Amino acid sequence: MIIKEMLKKNFTRIREECGVFGISNIEDASTLTTLGLHALQHRGQEGCGIVSYDGYNYFSEKRFGLVGDNFNNQETIKKLPGYYAIGHNRYSTTGGKILRNVQPFFADTNAGGIGVSHNGNLTNAITLRKKLVEDGAIFYTTSDTETIVQLIARSKKEKNIDKIIEAISQIQGGYALVMLTQNILIGARDIYGIRPLVIGKIENSYVLASETCALDIIGATFLREVENGEIVYIEDDQLHSLKPFGDHKTRPCVFEYIYFSRPDSMLRGKTAYEYRKNLGKELAKEDDIKADLVVPVPDSGNAAAIGYSHQKKIDFDLGLIRNHYVGRTFIEPGQQIRSLGVKLKLNANKSSIEGKSIILVDDSLVRGTTSHKIVKMLYDAGATEVHLRIACPEIKFPDFYGVDMPTKKELLAANKSIEEICEYVKAKSLRFLSIKGLYKALGFADRDHENPQLTDHYFTGDYPIKLIDQLGDSKITQLSLLSAGTNS
Ligand code: AMP
Repeated sequence: MIIKEMLKKNFTRIREECGVFGISNIEDASTLTTLGLHALQHRGQEGCGIVSYDGYNYFSEKRFGLVGDNFNNQETIKKLPGYYAIGHNRYSTTGGKILRNVQPFFADTNAGGIGVSHNGNLTNAITLRKKLVEDGAIFYTTSDTETIVQLIARSKKEKNIDKIIEAISQIQGGYALVMLTQNILIGARDIYGIRPLVIGKIENSYVLASETCALDIIGATFLREVENGEIVYIEDDQLHSLKPFGDHKTRPCVFEYIYFSRPDSMLRGKTAYEYRKNLGKELAKEDDIKADLVVPVPDSGNAAAIGYSHQKKIDFDLGLIRNHYVGRTFIEPGQQIRSLGVKLKLNANKSSIEGKSIILVDDSLVRGTTSHKIVKMLYDAGATEVHLRIACPEIKFPDFYGVDMPTKKELLAANKSIEEICEYVKAKSLRFLSIKGLYKALGFADRDHENPQLTDHYFTGDYPIKLIDQLGDSKITQLSLLSAGTNS
């Protein structure tokens, strides 16, 4: 996309929303990494890559598209020998769809090679990049992750692990990093633990992954989460932990609970599925509506709708049938295609909804495109009433820590009242979960307003990490870097 179009579409940041994986000292490291990435496919579908190390050399293979379509053959795996590997799934973002942006990134430093996989979004990447460019650095990608690689490569420390600590101390934002330098596997999580990262073990080998579902697929046991602000490294089959950035309260991203993590992944000792059922239950407790059926928006609203239906003792039925061979509606870049996408993905199940009043449950409402289409679909198929229920509060503020959210202008709840949204989606009634209900569903008595337990700026506007790149004059640099990437 050329700059003018980008300006029109109001692109003001680079977005990364990805899955990361790493494994140390094990036979078939690249095959296991492929499986791990496959389990994390929901975190990113644009591209995938693996970097392996065989004790002498590094190997790298990167592709556009899905893991199963690209790493499903021995030919590719054979190109990734060694007992150590890291991998990455890249989310489809609007800017810079070029292979050079597909991770893991690799760099040679004076302490040896280093591969980097990053999930998240740095809030000072543009500011740092500007300084690095002034200092003579040449950037090859449009990704904020390259800033980390540049900082590591420019560190004067002797060992790569110390270079990494120095680099991480300069970055801000949401990040989960998995890195490989010779036979040392490294993991790091931002000071609030906004982006997820877990540690698993298989025989004597350690695994790092965005979510526990990537441990399950290879038969690894879950050990613990990497803590907020923690750097772990695995050397000679020993796990070491460093906390170089002081003490901070953990504050994971609420959207991992609501939408992003796979339902079977564990977050703070429970599956995302259980939390989502609780979100539906709390929503039902706050609601006084009566109807014949509870219908989920598949698959994102499934768990919440089950919880809602159990709580209300109203029948649950599949009033919408999903075509599983279409990607997420969100991955389509343009608004026009996105609205088509909803039709491609879902169809009304006439037999279960005709003549019925329906409570339609989804996990979240962002632009309102999905709800708008589905409400119409249900009425067209004979529903007598459609009451829309959203199992999270109104999203009023954009994200800058790694979840693909549109700008404030496009966020429906940032610009319309609940009544206006209801009118827009043409539902009979509309209700969102309260913030208190959200916290209760996620295991807290209420939101601690002094020290919030979760990163929840989507609803509150409370951004725990300063948005450095949104201030000052960084925008100019950002636009030139976006054009550099997209023209390649
Ligand atoms: P919208 O149609 O714009 O209101 O988006 C709402 C739908 O998109 C819901 O079904 C959500 O499950 C899904 N959704 C919410 N947040 C995201 C996200 N960050 N990435 C992809 N899909 C999302």
